Amino acid sequence: MTMHQPTLRPAYPAPLPRKLVSLLVPVFNEQEAVSAFLTEIDRVFAPLHATYDYEVIFVNDGSRDATEFVIRSRMTDNPHIHLINLSRNFGKEAALSAAIDHAQGDVCIPIDVDLQDPPEVIPEMLDLWSKGAQIVNARRANRTQDTWIKRKTAQGFYRVFNALADHSIPQDVGDFRLLDRQVIDVLRDMNERVRFNKALFSWVGFETEEVTFDRPERQAGTSAWTYWKLWNFALDGIFSSSTVPLRIWTYAGGTLALMAFLYAAVLFFRTLVVGIDVPGYASTMITILMFGGLNLFAIGIVGEYIARIYSEVRERPLYVLRSIHNPGGQN
Ligand code: UDP
Ligand code: MG
Repeated sequence: MTMHQPTLRPAYPAPLPRKLVSLLVPVFNEQEAVSAFLTEIDRVFAPLHATYDYEVIFVNDGSRDATEFVIRSRMTDNPHIHLINLSRNFGKEAALSAAIDHAQGDVCIPIDVDLQDPPEVIPEMLDLWSKGAQIVNARRANRTQDTWIKRKTAQGFYRVFNALADHSIPQDVGDFRLLDRQVIDVLRDMNERVRFNKALFSWVGFETEEVTFDRPERQAGTSAWTYWKLWNFALDGIFSSSTVPLRIWTYAGGTLALMAFLYAAVLFFRTLVVGIDVPGYASTMITILMFGGLNLFAIGIVGEYIARIYSEVRERPLYVLRSIHNPGGQN
């Protein structure tokens, strides 16, 4: 006798596996900011619990204060935290690369620990991601929080960068953005040493959406950036993303040489016709100084590129690991 076998159907549809969100957080001397950041992240992710799980990847970029201690003491009761210690301060770009290399998430979000990249826009970013966007940029709605000089220099930077770079970057979008796993995998394969992440994030392409936010003041601690560091960072950005400053000398030099030949011809024939014209101190000096200055400037530009080529060919690692804590969820 055959028994009728009822089809086994669960009372509820099986829950879909939750997507993992990796928050990539470089930290340098941030002992005051870490706890508030974790509390805020917890608050933002609580309502998303059914659909999203998260991991916080702290990259301790050679902090000299109690940052590591604070993070490790929070790790005892918070399984979301991972800590990567670098062997010294490598700078934010390298620290972010370390986080990118170690993230496990379906989606990654580089974010500052000082709450200047407000975590409350994360749900909006994830929403756009679930609708198909592979990159979601977070753009600052305004720069009214910044000083006049910071605003003007930032504006100048974007203008110069976009005029010279082979591929433009969106204005007022920092590192805070959502990156799909497919994008992360491309970024991991880009092994250049001089890294200006903002430009790399834009270079890869993919379906890009945007959210806007108001950038608050730093919540705790102090910014590690000085104008000198920002200047060098800007130079790295420009010279690692362009070839125009290098190639322009073909045209500038060509035009000047042509003019110089024409003028030389004029002088030659004038001397033949009118005779020797001794006065000319001013014009001689101006020519020497102008061409001398231009030559040095052009050599300097070439030097900027050569210095960066030099760091590329040495192929040193981008960062050095000291230790990793909690990979895979166990201490
Ligand atoms: N940061 C870092 N290494 C550095 C400098 C900064 O990892 O050498 C981190 C810092 O801890 C913070 C983020 O990069 O999480 C942004 O730094 P900061 O707030 O000083 O920059 P600002 O907001 O002034 O641009
Ligand atoms: Mg900040």
